[in-house]
Amino acid sequence: MSANYIRFLGTGAGDFHAAVPDVCGEDCNYKRALNLGGKNIRRATSMFIWPDIVVDFGETSREQLSVFGIPELSIRHIVISHGHYDHFNPSKILEFASLRNEPLEIYGALPIQTALNFAAAHRWNPQTFRFEAQSQENNCRFHEVIPEKPFRLGDVEVIPVLSSHFIDKAHLVVEQQALNFIFRRGSHTMFYNLDSSYLLPETMDYLSRFQFDILIMDATFGDLKIDPLQSGHHNFAMLDETIEEFRGRKMLKPQTRIVYSHLSTCEVPPHDEVAGKMAEKGIILAYDGMTLEF
Ligand SMILES: [Zn+2]
Ligand SMILES: [Zn+2]
Repeated sequence: MSANYIRFLGTGAGDFHAAVPDVCGEDCNYKRALNLGGKNIRRATSMFIWPDIVVDFGETSREQLSVFGIPELSIRHIVISHGHYDHFNPSKILEFASLRNEPLEIYGALPIQTALNFAAAHRWNPQTFRFEAQSQENNCRFHEVIPEKPFRLGDVEVIPVLSSHFIDKAHLVVEQQALNFIFRRGSHTMFYNLDSSYLLPETMDYLSRFQFDILIMDATFGDLKIDPLQSGHHNFAMLDETIEEFRGRKMLKPQTRIVYSHLSTCEVPPHDEVAGKMAEKGIILAYDGMTLEF
């Protein structure tokens, strides 16, 4: 593989493989995917950006680095979108950081730092149903990131933007600040929309300054009808609208690669069954291990 690429380490949603065994019926998408194996298995959302960045780091990220032959000690920067368990596993990150001499650099909103410090100082006792104090090594160096304030990781510029995710919409309560990211390297620009529902107006306005080479969109619920008030994600119909808005605002190039990821294993059929149909519509359905030049 030549330089300047991204690799999907996991393309699942909250029901990623390994997280929720045996949740559905006999002939469910989850079990068919398990039987098919390969590209049909969706692990926790995580993405490698060459040479040393991982975006979102969940339960399965470390083993996926090894599956795809990426040396774990080459990773220096972990960028976290938000604190849901399928994107952020504090114990796994502390364990990963402890392998290194130098601190592991972590970038995210403040609740990410709070959660890492909490996980280092506590363990759960399932017998007493209480937390117990512990002191685990914490070899992470945290960097708070702010929406629309760019920062640089080597030759990659990162611009966090506010996501519409992790919000109790009915009560207008932001439960945790969730971030999406614009990544830029040279003349290449990518939008990482995991996780997200319909974009916030200020985010859409900010994104309108750019033309994107790659869009990685939250497509969690596939063809399932959902109530947007109750969900922090898109289904395919909502994404059609969002992509159309990107097009209307001239944010796409003729060759823009539109990628759907964060795919519910229960709701989006196995890759082998739907990727072809999506390709006819000009959509790339992501799978674990997929690489794109960036
Ligand atoms: Zn998620
Ligand atoms: Zn989430």
